[in-house]
This record gives sequence, structure tokens and C-alpha cells, in this order.
Amino acid sequence: MAIPHLEFLKHLFRVKRHVYLDHNATTRVSSRVQRTMNRVLRRSYGNPSSLYSIARKSAEIMDDARRHVAHAVGADSHEILFTGCATESNNAVLKSVSAHFYPRKKKIISSPIEHPSVMKTLQFLTTQGIVVEYCPVDRYGRVNPSEIENLIDEDTFLVCCMLANNEIGTVQDVRAIAEISRRRGVLVLSDCVQAFGKIPVDVHGLGVDYASFSAHKLHGPKGVGALYVKQGSPFAPLLHGGHQEEGLRAGTEGLHNIAGFGTACRDVNKLLAQAGRIGTLKQQIIDRLRLIKPDCVVNSPDTGCLPNTANITFPNTSNAALLAMFDYHGIAVSAGSACNTHDDKPSDTLKAIGLSDRAAKETVRFSLGSETTARDIRYTAWAFREYVEGRSLLVNIVSPLELDEPFLLDEQNYILDVRTQGLRKKVKSLPNAHEVSFTAIGKSLHLLPRDKHILVVCQGGGLSYIAAYFLRAKGFERVSSLRTGVCGWKERRGDLYHRLAGQNVTSVRATG
Ligand code: PLP
Repeated sequence: MAIPHLEFLKHLFRVKRHVYLDHNATTRVSSRVQRTMNRVLRRSYGNPSSLYSIARKSAEIMDDARRHVAHAVGADSHEILFTGCATESNNAVLKSVSAHFYPRKKKIISSPIEHPSVMKTLQFLTTQGIVVEYCPVDRYGRVNPSEIENLIDEDTFLVCCMLANNEIGTVQDVRAIAEISRRRGVLVLSDCVQAFGKIPVDVHGLGVDYASFSAHKLHGPKGVGALYVKQGSPFAPLLHGGHQEEGLRAGTEGLHNIAGFGTACRDVNKLLAQAGRIGTLKQQIIDRLRLIKPDCVVNSPDTGCLPNTANITFPNTSNAALLAMFDYHGIAVSAGSACNTHDDKPSDTLKAIGLSDRAAKETVRFSLGSETTARDIRYTAWAFREYVEGRSLLVNIVSPLELDEPFLLDEQNYILDVRTQGLRKKVKSLPNAHEVSFTAIGKSLHLLPRDKHILVVCQGGGLSYIAAYFLRAKGFERVSSLRTGVCGWKERRGDLYHRLAGQNVTSVRATG
């Protein structure tokens, strides 16, 4: 009798939960921030640039928020600009500082593991005559400050090094880098987006000239960022127009977002106080996953790492499949490489630390947060064990070579293409495909046949896994996912692609 009772309790424990382990992507807005934002939206509609009293009230709210942000990052209020996001902050610095120095000086030194908002901007700047040199990093993404020193020459005007990496969590010695750069008369930009709220950030102490921040990484709203510009450092606006932000960032301010950012910054010490607890949970998840799959490789460094970030490669396990399985169990994690397009290449960070394309596609990032509990960790490890030991709900995998003419023309096979319109323009659909966008599947379930074999396809083979798991969870019995997606099929079955692709394609809504 005892055993069934125990089983029942175990079952209760394992009832599907929602576990959010993607705090480096974004965080939930805290209730205190929500209250602030609601209050501002309800009452404070005055334009902060106007002169009458309701406008002055809005300007006061801006001042308060700026003070809170400045205080939280160790800056003076007049050194903080509000922007639309950290991407804008990074763009503004890189483009304006380059314009300031070019053509007198042309070189920027960067770490190779910067966020795309830096990497892509640097790539753009190289088309404008700027030279970018990347300082090598070690296996854990660490930049050696003396290597930066070796790269600095007469032509160098800026060093760009993030404080903490978003994918693997590595924390850089930005203070040492800034000290070297200052001695050599070179400016420093540090992207502090991921560090803020997880480890202490003090821009004056770091000695950097520019630093970028984003509210939504620390329980603030999306769509607002901040930029620290050290007094006297060159800077010119990215957006021209009104005289907001002392003429350095035109555009009527999103007051509710800025106020929300200010409130989030007031709570930053509470977040920092959780670092020890979160670090312990991170170690628990690493230990538990290692126990289940001893050959997994942790890419995040043991020391000098954000307390919440564990980036792990699981050999011979597709991260798309893992993501889909975790999602099926209500667990949100992130892949080490974008798995929804044919650009299924490893990220710059994973490449720079030496991961092969294959290892990158076996890599998952777990990023914990203030709401993460020990139970979340146990549940995540349980879901992983179920998967590794073959007990998870199964989705069949179809290889592109199996997609021959008889398969494609067999009416028992229902091909569901979950790509966006943009991707369908790049690569034509499979013949007889039924198109529905990934985000609309939930609303289209009643239009899908329950008596047929559904083959879900996407561009690169990642999203289709998630959609296929979703269909299985909704009771569809025979569901498969096309490995390597439509691109893989085009590559391996070029003959069929040229003869049949795009024929007899219908929209799921239209057929319904
Ligand atoms: N920099 C880093 C390190 C990030 O992780 C992110 C967001 O993921 C950004 C910049 C961009 O921030 P935002 O979403 O505010 O543009």
C-alpha cells in the first residue's frame, strides 16, 4: 500500500510546472515596478519637456529615476542618458566615438564575445573604414588584459569589453583593462547589461568611459536602457530631433518605462543579496545534470562567473530537442545557438571559446533568477533524466533523405510548415505543405488532422521540434519533426526541390 501512495505523491510533485530559467534573456517585471509604471501611466501624462505643472511633475519623475539609476551603477546623475534599449546605447557609443576619431584614428579593439548589439555594429563600422581587432579569449571566454595592451597602438581610440557575458556568464577584469587603456589614452566602452543586478557594478570604480544598461534584465520594463557617459568623454547623438536628454537623445521620453527602470534600480541591492542563494542553486543544477549525463561539459567558468549562468554542452544531444522537451514540461531555457533559422551557426561567443558547430548545437544555457527555487532545479533535473533515459514523450525525427516523392505525395502525411513569411521567401516550401506560423499553431489546432501523420518542418530543424512536442502535448498521436529543416531537404534533395518545391502549398487558415 505504501508504494502506490508514494507514487501518487511523486506524481503530484511532478505535475507540470512553469520554471523560468532564462533570466539572461529577460526577467519578469516586479510588482513594485508594475505599481510605479501603472501610477505614472494613470497620472503623469505631462510631457517632461513642457513647462506647466503636470509636465514639471513628469520631469521630476525623470530626475528621480535618473538618480536611482546613477546611484545603482556608481555614476553621477548627469552622466546617465536614457535610451530605448541597451542595443541603442551600444550603437550610439560605437558610432559616435568612431565618427569623432575617424580618420585621425581608425582602430577599435574588442573582445570577440560581445553581444550582437556590439558585434554587428562593429561589423558595420568596418564598412565605414574602421579597423576592428579582436583580442583572443581562453576556453572560458576570459580576456587577458595584457593581450589588450599588446594590441593597443597609435591608431587605437576605443577598447570594447563587456563586464559579463550573456551566454556563458564570464566576468571580465574590466577595471584592469580600463586602467591599461587610460594609460595609453584609449577610451573604454563596457556593456554592463548582464552584470547589472547580478554582481555589483560601479562605473567610476571600473574607470570606464561608457557603459550600457538595460532595465528588463533586472525586473524592469522592456524598451528602456541607459548609457553612462563619463564627464568629458566625446559623445554625439544617434537620434536627432528634440532637445531631450540635453540634446543627446532626441524623442519624447517613455516616462512610465523610465520610472519603472528607476524603481527596478532601487531594488538592485535586494537582487545582489540573492547572489549566494542563486549561486548554490546553479551548482545544484550543474551537479544534478552531470550525475545524469556525466559527459556533459560546463562552458561557464567556476570562478569569475555570474552567479546565475550555467552554459552546458550535452554531447550527442541536440539542443533543439532539449529545448522542445523542456518546453513541453513548462521549463524555459535557451539554446547556445539560434535554432530557428538556417543561420544555425554557433554564436560568436561559443566559437571564440573553441566550440565546434556541432558542440554549439548541443549547448544549452540555464540562467537562474531571484524567483528560482530548489524545487525548480529538482523538477528540471527530473525532466532531463526522463529524456535521457528515454521516458519522455517522443517525437519522431525524419531525415531529409527520407523525404522522397512517395512520402511527399502520400495523403497520409500532413506537412505542417511553421516558418515565417520572410523565411518562406528565402527557401520555397515542401510540396503539399500546409503553412501556419509558429506563433499561430495554438489557435489552429482544430484545423489539423488527428488521423494523419503530421510532419512539422521549419527552416533549420529547431522550431519544428518545439512545435512537434507541443502537438504531442495536445494529443496528436503521430507527429514528426524534419531534421535540418527545409534548408537541409533542399541541400540533400536538390533534384526534388527544383522539381516540386512550392507546389500545392496551402495556408492552414485558408483551408479551414
Ligand atoms: N548586451 C548584452 C550583454 C545583452 O545580454 C543584451 C540583451 O540580451 C543587450 C546588450 C541588449 O539589450 P536590449 O535588449 O536592451 O537591447
